[in-house]
Amino acid sequence: MSAEELRVVLHKIADRAVAFRESRADAPHRPLATYAEMKAAFDAPAPEHGAPIGDLIDELAALTTPGLANMVGPRFFGWVIGATHPAGLAADWLTSAWAQNVGNAHATPAASACEEITGRWLLELLDLPRSSSVGFVTGATIANFTCLAAARGEVLRRVGWDVEADGLFGAPPVHVVLGEEAHSTVFSGLRYLGLGSKRVVRVPVTPQGLMQPGAFAKAIATLEGPIIAIAQAGHINSGGFDPFAEIANAARAKGAWLHVDGAFGLWARACPDRAHLGRGLELADSWGVDGHKWLQTPHDSAYAIVRDAEAHRRAMLIAASYLPEGSERHPADYVPELSRRGRGFATWAMIKSLGRSGIAAMVSRHCAQARQMSELLGAERDIEILNDVVLNQVAVRLGVDLDGAQADALTDRTIARIQQDGVCFVGGANWRGRQIIRVSVISANTTDADIVKSAEAIISAWRAERHANAV
Ligand SMILES: *Cc1c(COP(=O)(O)O)cnc(C)c1O
Repeated sequence: MSAEELRVVLHKIADRAVAFRESRADAPHRPLATYAEMKAAFDAPAPEHGAPIGDLIDELAALTTPGLANMVGPRFFGWVIGATHPAGLAADWLTSAWAQNVGNAHATPAASACEEITGRWLLELLDLPRSSSVGFVTGATIANFTCLAAARGEVLRRVGWDVEADGLFGAPPVHVVLGEEAHSTVFSGLRYLGLGSKRVVRVPVTPQGLMQPGAFAKAIATLEGPIIAIAQAGHINSGGFDPFAEIANAARAKGAWLHVDGAFGLWARACPDRAHLGRGLELADSWGVDGHKWLQTPHDSAYAIVRDAEAHRRAMLIAASYLPEGSERHPADYVPELSRRGRGFATWAMIKSLGRSGIAAMVSRHCAQARQMSELLGAERDIEILNDVVLNQVAVRLGVDLDGAQADALTDRTIARIQQDGVCFVGGANWRGRQIIRVSVISANTTDADIVKSAEAIISAWRAERHANAV
């Protein structure tokens, strides 16, 4: 392909990307096509012969458009998803064009140095111990996994067991202590590490899903031997924070490694009016946090942050080697992968684009918008907000005056109706034994007016559903 042909293709996709983004403000927030329809559209035998790039890109765009969710739309509140900000998007395009394989500092000094410095920026913004190591991973699932691998290695090393060399067979048992409502992906990490998702001590939680005061200390008090404790900054439904100061002290007294799953909630520390929520979590040993949620980077971006850089490196190192003092930091030494893209570039671009003040303002705005949403919905006589809206999450229970099963069924129908209407997108969850609507305010594109419009859409769908079912 000639440079001129490449220019034509890339200009064309730039136009397409801009048109897509432009159309999203008023587009329905749900995908228009179903999975079955999309599968039928893609279904074809593997092609025998190559096709011109311009043509196949046109075809790809035509095929996908009906089945794309409007996740960058201003009223997308499903799961907890950032909006891939233009700065991150632009840096990510270049990242692909540069095609750096970010394993080794000698092979790609630019990508390696960018990650090292951007990692330092993250520690400053999140106010975590400055000598911590930072691995640039795909998501908080793998950030948690990476941190827990470091934890596993270190707590066993302290009792004379080299898990990196000898594995878990015959190793002293490792106790894992976590809150009853830890995020499902944390259990995946424990599975990958051979620690077992069931072989854990579950600490009872408050109605907000947070470890009960005193309960963690009590749970850990009776344990002997290596201990890993896992706390949460930003509960998936309530947005709440575990009582870190207390947990950290109790963990330290027992020599436990304390990890914090802060996929989105850790960003509260970058926002002066929310920072109090995460007070004390700087005492932990490791932290997992996403870029592709609150920082609005493109997807495949999260950070595994470990206080003990050597423990981090021991757990992830691919070729065991002696690291001379002052030598280069090899990106692959801190993540589970060898060959990968330069994730640091998009993170660098987002932090440059927003700056510390811009990140703080965005987090603060989303939290205020979550409160606005909770007030608008909570004003409806048969709607209850189940959580203390301390962050960006709103847990909404419909039909408080109805029988539980009936309310659950109507909640599911209301969610389907809201998605169908397309004005906004919300998802459901089962929490405290009931179906709820979960609203996550975390998109860079959401304005206060979008909150009002969405609250109206949610209430009108709920009234219509309730009326149609005459209860
Ligand atoms: C989203 C989330 C995760 C998983 O993060 P991914 O980026 O999807 O891998 C883990 N913990 C919490 C609290 C989350 O919100």
